[in-house]
Amino acid sequence: MSDMASSREWIRSLTDLLFPRLCCGCGERLALGEQLVCSRCQLSLPLETNHDWDFNRRKALWIDHERLVRMGALTRYQRGNVASELVRSLKFRRHYLLGEWMGRTAVQLLRHTNLFEGVEVLVPIPLTRQRRFLRGFNQAEAIARGMASELGIPVRTDVLRRIYDRESQTHFTLAQRLENADHVFALQSDSDLAQRHVMVVDDVMTTGTTMLGAIEALEAVPTVRISTFVFAWVYMPAAAHI
Ligand SMILES: [Zn+2]
Repeated sequence: MSDMASSREWIRSLTDLLFPRLCCGCGERLALGEQLVCSRCQLSLPLETNHDWDFNRRKALWIDHERLVRMGALTRYQRGNVASELVRSLKFRRHYLLGEWMGRTAVQLLRHTNLFEGVEVLVPIPLTRQRRFLRGFNQAEAIARGMASELGIPVRTDVLRRIYDRESQTHFTLAQRLENADHVFALQSDSDLAQRHVMVVDDVMTTGTTMLGAIEALEAVPTVRISTFVFAWVYMPAAAHI
């Protein structure tokens, strides 16, 4: 090791000591070579094992949406598991680089499946302008950017606009909020998406209402094909009453 390299190592160790870098999953200190997520958390990611993206239970719920091609997720979301901790870090610690890591990792781990086959454009679920300003970035866009760097396809943020923010609709009754769910998104620009295969990207899917709102807005584009990707979703076991 040259003098220069060893002093660089030394400075890095010292910086680590003074400003410890913590894992976004478990909060433990990262080892010298680790970035963002420690290797233990990476190994314990609760990966989705059912790779039948064309016919899973999620998609079965929305069978009447004929333009829907595939629905996929990298991990299964459960309160307190590594996937949920990463989503939380991304959202509330405003960790843009973590979002990119999540997107890149998803593509690397799922490239052998058909999930991204033929997908031409990534469309992250938008935030309202106000929420984006408050958070500083859109977590779904960070994931989409990470995916785009692996897939070599564009990210389009000019397609959907978010009109309502469900989280801030506390002054509405539940019935009003459910009614509004259909009109959360507006199609902003549809000029060149006809016949394209679009993948809508978000960080997490629980009930799926947000994703459904985006799909319904995109369906106004003639002959568009739609797939969806989330970093984590609530898994629907076979026994679920759907
Ligand atoms: Zn960790």
